[in-house]
Amino acid sequence: MAGRTNIYFDHNAGAAMRPQAVELVRALTGVTGNPSSVHGAGRAARAHIEKARAQVALLAGVPASHVTFTSGASEANVTALSPIWRKGRGEARFFRVLVGASEHASVIAGGRFAKDAIEILPVDGDGLVDADHLARRLAELSDEAAAREGARILVSVMAANNETGAVQPLARIGEIVAAAGAILHVDAVQAAGRVALDMAGWQADSIALSAHKIGGPQGAGALVVRNAGLKPAPLLTGGGQEHWNRAGTENVAAIAGFGIAAELCAQEINHWDEIRRLRDGFESGLRHIWSDTFIFSGGVERLANTSCFAVPGVAAETALIALDLEGIACSSGSACSSGKVSVSHVLTAMGVEERLARCALRVSFSPDARAEEVEVFLAAWRRLSERMRGAGAGRAA
Ligand code: PLP
Repeated sequence: MAGRTNIYFDHNAGAAMRPQAVELVRALTGVTGNPSSVHGAGRAARAHIEKARAQVALLAGVPASHVTFTSGASEANVTALSPIWRKGRGEARFFRVLVGASEHASVIAGGRFAKDAIEILPVDGDGLVDADHLARRLAELSDEAAAREGARILVSVMAANNETGAVQPLARIGEIVAAAGAILHVDAVQAAGRVALDMAGWQADSIALSAHKIGGPQGAGALVVRNAGLKPAPLLTGGGQEHWNRAGTENVAAIAGFGIAAELCAQEINHWDEIRRLRDGFESGLRHIWSDTFIFSGGVERLANTSCFAVPGVAAETALIALDLEGIACSSGSACSSGKVSVSHVLTAMGVEERLARCALRVSFSPDARAEEVEVFLAAWRRLSERMRGAGAGRAA
């Protein structure tokens, strides 16, 4: 029997769709008109896409023409990780891509680079990219770059991690990448609407966004570039849509829903301070139950809504099912990889022992999460973790 879910603490896997986005998607579903057609119906569909483009551009702080809509952030990431970018009328070529070890699967796979051109950047115990290592590798590779007649290096580091919420020091990373003449792509999926998307400050050449993480519909996303004259070669070719940047008829309803979600999330950015207090109270509650509760990335700046924790001996997969039976939705590792029994590659990269990683749960709050819901979670957690663990070591009170 499926669990009765009435407390939703899995915002990082998929945010609840905003009523305004639901309304717009409903209104546009079934409306006739291909946005590439010149007649009135086509122009009406086009108008919805261009409005959404302006809304997403505003969130990213760039002109509208810098936004290319995609089917989601996975596609945007794979598009960005291309060995060829268009540069003005010519092209820039990349012989190596360096990706953070805690990146989303769509980045770690290296996009369109050959396997031997993909290099993983180590992260520290909190999941932050080792900036000194990055600087060293870029310096070491610079001779090779010169020998390859101007071929360059692409670097991909996410803004905030989906599992732990750890916020990468992008200003520093951007500085190192720019100084080396390399290009920086940032997966900004989890940061959007929660921390400012500072493409200029990060010196990010492109960012990936996803609609369903900010209260828009599933199946829409965007690749945003900082400089209109420097962008990856299209992944999907064969049509002139999206100014030849992405072939295929656009999903008008989903893109419009993405646009309104982008506009609304930009207005709520300060609201997360309240959620941070709720999250901090939640973590105190966890530690009150078990003093040996481990909070991952607890020592660094994190997204306000994210808590990834483990209690030794309380297996995450079992806890997840027990919580679901109580009507509580959260996740173990990332939802994108759920179904797999393997431990989180993010925690593994952080050097977390497999035994503890198998106990890691992620709770991610929505902007309207309530203190009463946290209380219900903590009561359920106390009950089920005591059952699973017994009254062993680590009992706090
Ligand atoms: N990047 C991060 C950090 C994510 O958390 C996710 C989804 O979980 C993605 C990329 C993929 O986004 P989409 O579902 O739009 O393909």
